[in-house]
Amino acid sequence: MIVIGAGVAGIYQIKRFVKLGADAFVLEAEDDLGGTWFRNRYPGCRFDSESYTYGYSFSQEILDTWHWKELFSSQPENLRYLNHVADLFGLHEHMRFGVRIASMTWTKQHAHGRSPPRTARPSAPGS
Ligand SMILES: Cc1cc2nc3c(=O)[nH]c(=O)nc-3n(C[C@H](O)[C@H](O)[C@H](O)COP(=O)(O)OP(=O)(O)OC[C@H]3O[C@@H](n4cnc5c(N)ncnc54)[C@H](O)[C@@H]3O)c2cc1C
Repeated sequence: MIVIGAGVAGIYQIKRFVKLGADAFVLEAEDDLGGTWFRNRYPGCRFDSESYTYGYSFSQEILDTWHWKELFSSQPENLRYLNHVADLFGLHEHMRFGVRIASMTWTKQHAHGRSPPRTARPSAPGS
């Protein structure tokens, strides 16, 4: 199984697949996880909804081990949160960074197989 992107959604998806015992991994174009919260680092970047409404609610372990410091949490803290979740469940080892999916082809022959997708290194800004 392949998950594309290690943002909030991809982190949850890979957690689910790992729990199901699937041979799954995430391919992420950026150099680390976080998606929106990895990419956006401008001053003042933060949630516009209250922090507690944003966190994952599927795991009591996350709820017990993470306490938001601010009502509307800032980007650095949000990125720390996502890394905390990945650490908690050993998800980093299921992630490959610097890999952008260029295209994928579904074929009946490989419907249950492990045909690798075509990948490309992310292009440099402006190129
Ligand atoms: C400043 C700001 C504040 C926000 N505040 C809130 C808020 O308060 N509450 C709220 O609910 N939402 C908020 N959002 C929305 C936020 O984007 C989402 O909550 C959430 O982070 C989206 O997660 P995602 O995993 O769906 O997508 P993303 O975070 O965009 O992650 C997608 C990932 O997929 C990767 N990817 C994409 N295409 C490819 C490819 N072809 N190959 C490989 N990798 C690929 C990208 O590099 C990226 O890392 C905010 C957004 C911003 C920018």
